[in-house]
Amino acid sequence: MAEGFNELRWNPLLGAWVIVSSKRRGRPWRSGECPFCPGAPETGFGWRVLTLDNRYPALRPDARTSRASRGLYEVKPGYGYCKVIVESPQHEGDLSDLPFDDLKLYVGELIRVTRELCADPNVQHVIPFRNKGEVIGVSLTHPHSQVYALPFVPPRVAREMESMRRHWEERGECLLCSILRLELEEGERLLYGNGSFVSFLPFFAMWPYEVHVYPRRHFGSLCEMSAQEVEDLADALKVITAMYNSLFDFSLPYMMVFHQRPCRVEAEYFHFHVEFYPVHRERDKLKYAAGIEWGAWTFTYDSLPEEKAAELRQALLRGLASLGARGYRARGAPLGGGKVD
Ligand code: ZN
Ligand code: ZN
Ligand code: FE
Repeated sequence: MAEGFNELRWNPLLGAWVIVSSKRRGRPWRSGECPFCPGAPETGFGWRVLTLDNRYPALRPDARTSRASRGLYEVKPGYGYCKVIVESPQHEGDLSDLPFDDLKLYVGELIRVTRELCADPNVQHVIPFRNKGEVIGVSLTHPHSQVYALPFVPPRVAREMESMRRHWEERGECLLCSILRLELEEGERLLYGNGSFVSFLPFFAMWPYEVHVYPRRHFGSLCEMSAQEVEDLADALKVITAMYNSLFDFSLPYMMVFHQRPCRVEAEYFHFHVEFYPVHRERDKLKYAAGIEWGAWTFTYDSLPEEKAAELRQALLRGLASLGARGYRARGAPLGGGKVD
């Protein structure tokens, strides 16, 4: 039984749910003891990738609300699941450090967890993500991702869906397929491509080193990937994170988010993709979502995306070299760099 309260409160100004969870009695980890290392109370031994329940879940199937709704002030139970995917038995590292076979297991686990959580009829959306780095508030360095199973379609995904649906209906084609074609035509923001995925810094990037990874084939969710696509996504994740970690002389913090179609919406117009948002704008400067970004949801980009893409392309070459030195042969190759008139 839940010890605290887990509820959704409706923000009537923005038309969005806020997930509220009160402090629960937890057994805090003794410092120095990693909860994700093999042999910890919840992990055991003999695994390469492992899915755990978040010990302090924002959402839970037995959620209790602290109060009733009242007029405009709507409250609902914070129903859902918060999972942690421990990506490796190794205590340190990024996706780029995982052996390729383990990365494939990781992608496979994202698929399995998406399928399992979507099977709950009260779950509307499953969103896997990875936060890396102390500046993003991650204190546990053991490599891990998270998966939230939400009882609603989150606004950002809903907004993307709406844009994709409109484009599909008005132009008779997929928005992301169209973006991908434009990026391939223009070339100057392309970074890396393998048989199934193309990675680039988008024309419309909001974060200085934002990178999107789009499958070449049109499909809507992790669960629809072929074995070849699983392999190629693992390769793309490995190479892009190696690129980031070669950009400066430190391991680059980032957020990585998987955007897939909701569990219970057909949405044939939805095109699965992965987005990376590093928070640096220079080696020793962070980009904040500050007054104009957060207060107006209007991002300012303090250089040209094409310039940042050129920087990333140099880092990509260094990243590929460092992966090569560690015995990894990338499935794809650097792309683009050409300037269009
Ligand atoms: Zn550990
Ligand atoms: Zn598409
Ligand atoms: Fe997206």
